[in-house]
Amino acid sequence: MDALQHTLRKSISFNGTGVHSGRPVELKVYPAEINSGIRLLRSDLGQTEPTPAFMDRVTDTRLATTISTDDDDASIATVEHLMAALFGLGIDNAVIAVNGSEVPIMDGSAAPFVRVLQQVGRRRQSSCRWMLKFHEVVRFDDDQGRTVRIEPYDGLRISYQIDYEHDQISRQYYDIDLTPRRFTKEIAGARTFCLLREVEFMRRNGLALGGSLDNAVVVDDQGVMNHGGLRYTDEFVRHKILDLIGDLALLGFPVLGRVVAEKSGHTQHFGLMQAVAAHPEAWTIVAYETQGENRVLRQLALSTRAVGGRVLPYLLPPSLVLALANSCSPASW
Ligand SMILES: [Zn+2]
Repeated sequence: MDALQHTLRKSISFNGTGVHSGRPVELKVYPAEINSGIRLLRSDLGQTEPTPAFMDRVTDTRLATTISTDDDDASIATVEHLMAALFGLGIDNAVIAVNGSEVPIMDGSAAPFVRVLQQVGRRRQSSCRWMLKFHEVVRFDDDQGRTVRIEPYDGLRISYQIDYEHDQISRQYYDIDLTPRRFTKEIAGARTFCLLREVEFMRRNGLALGGSLDNAVVVDDQGVMNHGGLRYTDEFVRHKILDLIGDLALLGFPVLGRVVAEKSGHTQHFGLMQAVAAHPEAWTIVAYETQGENRVLRQLALSTRAVGGRVLPYLLPPSLVLALANSCSPASW
């Protein structure tokens, strides 16, 4: 994990299609100042004040993750692959502007975003990077045997298992210690997937109108329908990890812990994040600091407990955000 915050060097733009609306959409991503996080706005509605991409703004997790950008009906859907690209490359601060109701689906993976973000590069910023370090296990289980938990771990590691009642997908497991390099190589290119019968159901309900074999892996009873087959033999579980990374980014701070997921999806990921919010005793806010030759973790002077049992970092009062900024001395890095 980086010790300091980063943004992108200059703004970038993408043109693509909304997977559900089928409409063309333009996406721009701009650099942003320290401690501002990832924020979103609808440029077609004239919004100028971006909304933080935080879990309390999530309004739908059924097919993709949707974020409401104001108190009315304005929202942006399918944010998870772009969020994963930013988070996976270690970009803390950025503004995402979309002229429609969806982030373009591109090829169904995070690779097109990652390629362009790597071309423009990152800019290091003069504030330390605060992270959530887990000391106790936090978990979410449902009555269908789906489970996801965060355990103490020195780094961010994700262990994911899927088990589909479909011969072509069935059981897959993947385990990764996340770094930008490994994210780019092993996770970013994994495409979203669905069963042919799900596509037919969604189409009848006016969804997935922009979906095609160019932006999703589609599986029928015979196997993968896409020409060229899969990008990785275990592309399905890798894509679940991509979705998880994009969802965890909505906590507001990177996680230091090991996430173990079995048969999960967006809904379970959000169950876990709500459990994180409900158990502030399980984690503390930390940053890296250099002491001589060594890099050590330093805990935020003000204890997480003192902040109160009800808030996540993104809800910190402005005075504490200022305290965070001031208590960090980048000169020592
Ligand atoms: Zn996805």
